[in-house]
Amino acid sequence: MTQNPNAQTQAWQQLDAAHHLHPFTDNGALNAKGSRVISHADGVYIHTPEGDAILDGMAGLWCVNMGYGRTELVQAATEQLNTLPYYNLFFQCTHPPATELAAQLTSLLPDHLNRVFFTGSGSECNDTVVRMVRHYWASQGQPKRKAIISRHNAYHGSTMAGASLGGMKPMHAQGGLPIPDIHHIDQPYHFGEGQGMDANEFGLERARQLEAKILELGPENVAAFIGEPVQGAGGVIIPPETYWPEVQRICRQYDILLISDEVICGFGRLGHWLGCEHFGVKPDLVCMAKGITSGYVPLGAVAVGDRVAQGLLDNGGDFNHGFTYSGHPVACAVASANLKLMADEKVLERINEHTAPYLQRRWAELADHPLVGEARGLGMVAALELVADKASGKRFDENVGAGTVCRDFCIESGLVMRAVGDTMIISPPLIITEAEIDELIARARRSLDLTW
Ligand code: PLP
Repeated sequence: MTQNPNAQTQAWQQLDAAHHLHPFTDNGALNAKGSRVISHADGVYIHTPEGDAILDGMAGLWCVNMGYGRTELVQAATEQLNTLPYYNLFFQCTHPPATELAAQLTSLLPDHLNRVFFTGSGSECNDTVVRMVRHYWASQGQPKRKAIISRHNAYHGSTMAGASLGGMKPMHAQGGLPIPDIHHIDQPYHFGEGQGMDANEFGLERARQLEAKILELGPENVAAFIGEPVQGAGGVIIPPETYWPEVQRICRQYDILLISDEVICGFGRLGHWLGCEHFGVKPDLVCMAKGITSGYVPLGAVAVGDRVAQGLLDNGGDFNHGFTYSGHPVACAVASANLKLMADEKVLERINEHTAPYLQRRWAELADHPLVGEARGLGMVAALELVADKASGKRFDENVGAGTVCRDFCIESGLVMRAVGDTMIISPPLIITEAEIDELIARARRSLDLTW
């Protein structure tokens, strides 16, 4: 990576420092250092104005699944902007892109998911499900069912309800979170919290915390459980195989609605349209965003299962909830084009038969590095646990910041890899080739060597 920004880049950095506050950032510290300017992108690479090509191992923020520079998506947006750039879905109106996308989506999803409520983002999906499940239970004569159970270290977005459902401590420390009636249980993080225990035993133990929490709160007060099939932002936490089936059994036993947050795991990330399909789970509601448009424009969608949808149709009356940009026509048109592109290019088949097995095989080779305590992955996500002592699995002291150091060496080596504490994670575009995976692994290894 070039160390010296050109004059134009410096001008952007100065404007940025003077006028812009970045999300999830210590803006004071960033201003002193200068933001990294990304000016264009193609395929799996993002570029700086100086001409550096950085392999985007995170697909933006887990979203640019079909890669950068897809003219099919640009064309869909342009045509829709020319035809109907905006109209709302309020006041008994609809428009062709929302209608067609709702039908297209439900035809891809498991059979019991036949209706869609559109939003503008993943966070808005999670706000929507909080209100929808409580409204559903009230409409069924059970207004006391308000409690929603989630996990520590889950990520469900940054709005008040999304961040409350999420279990990120630093987020809860600011801005008066959580909102009432949200409860958290422990996550199924075997490497971090279950070492020494058989993984499947650990999975069952963590799932049974849900039952204990339901009994503590009283089943008659519990509306739903929400979880990401694989926790993404928490550090690619892949639950043991026993976990999800047991969670589903418990939800059914106590008649608790099950919500799958598929904002990351959906649209092929785990090799299926929905990540929960990998674990054999049938959720009542599903939150989707990011990969639905490959990140080209913002869109979110909540798929609603037949039981909840019918209850709302029969007894729900007005659902007093929605957004100006719910189902924005341009976003819906891009999503439709994106889903068509995925089907035309047989992306799921390619991932399952070639790309994911190759990525996971090459990724597993990194486990031999002296800094790596575990290399794990599923489908098109993967993580490395950095450790101070490989033999014992002992982690670094928090103040060492090994993950941050490694992340910075990754950038220097031409790779975006994210650090969650000392867990290094990737989620590359689904269209990445085997040659590009080889390059990703080589750059990751170089960064590990530099960190070591
Ligand atoms: N849910 C999950 C699982 C996510 O990973 C994210 C974002 O990373 C969100 C919800 C929030 O989505 P958005 O940032 O589009 O609001």
